[in-house]
Amino acid sequence: MKNYIVMDLEWNQGSALTENPNIPFEVIEIGAVKLDENRNIVDTFDSLIRPQVYKKMNAMTQKVIHMDMKDLQNAEIFPHAFRKFMKWCGDDFIFCTWGNLDLTELQTNMRYYGLEPFSDGPLKYLDIQKLFSIVYSDGRTRRALETAVEFMQIEKKETFHHADGDAWYTAQIMNKMNRPDVEVYYSYDNFHTPKDAEHEVHAKFPTYSKYISRVFSDKAEAMKDSEVRATKCFICDRELRQTVQWFSLNSKNYFNVGICEKHGLMRSKLRVKKNEKGNVYIVKTLRRCDQEEADDLKKKERKAKVQAEKYEAIERAKAKRGRNHVRKKKVIKKVKK
Ligand SMILES: [Zn+2]
Repeated sequence: MKNYIVMDLEWNQGSALTENPNIPFEVIEIGAVKLDENRNIVDTFDSLIRPQVYKKMNAMTQKVIHMDMKDLQNAEIFPHAFRKFMKWCGDDFIFCTWGNLDLTELQTNMRYYGLEPFSDGPLKYLDIQKLFSIVYSDGRTRRALETAVEFMQIEKKETFHHADGDAWYTAQIMNKMNRPDVEVYYSYDNFHTPKDAEHEVHAKFPTYSKYISRVFSDKAEAMKDSEVRATKCFICDRELRQTVQWFSLNSKNYFNVGICEKHGLMRSKLRVKKNEKGNVYIVKTLRRCDQEEADDLKKKERKAKVQAEKYEAIERAKAKRGRNHVRKKKVIKKVKK
């Protein structure tokens, strides 16, 4: 029987001088609420954590979470608290969080202490902040937890910005929202990117598809890959007839438009991302679009072409100048002899 583990973390950080790049944010509290398959709250978990890296509370953190180092002095260290937490979670569950930060920070802390990872690839979870936006807004806007709590008229009887309180509020929202049909829009945490082509993610959702690639040595290599460039209808898997070729105006996002003979216009967006080791990987999403959006992207494609041509002309001119420069130097040398 699958449980929902609604989790929230509080973390502390160092200063510019003391920051350890292996653990920029040190977890100091894990709070969680367990819901059964009907989204009823069945249990809660809370553990404070005694920090091992940053022993001073960051001034900004202190302001937000109102916690003192004194409060953590008798707490357990991360590996112990984490093991207890995992035991409490049980065997069959999915993590739920408000926003997309907590799982990344949790996994950074796990790796710092050499604990066994959750998986060797992207981790499926439910981002309740995103689901809240899909149900009550446009699916893109992100609201603060307190705003959502007020919107849903949930009684404010817990403290905000404490892991146990925030997890409790998030669980209340999930319970009250109760939209299993929207929970199919799960998210992926890419702390661990797919280890090879075979383990790449090809996920289908009711209104779009998502692809998460393995890592590439750089963007140019990624953009040559046939799977990265592929555009197939997310409903019927037909190859799309391209009307706007892959193009980019800012080198981070690429766009493409194609037509499925059965399902019409589709827009693909490709984002060039870096994982925590600094390796390049690709996240591609594909959804339906209307004629107006397709026309707009066609215009942008032309603009990108002009940009690219200008850039190439400048590069050619530079290369030519460079050659002339070398030639002149040689001539001077000859004269001197
Ligand atoms: Zn189709």
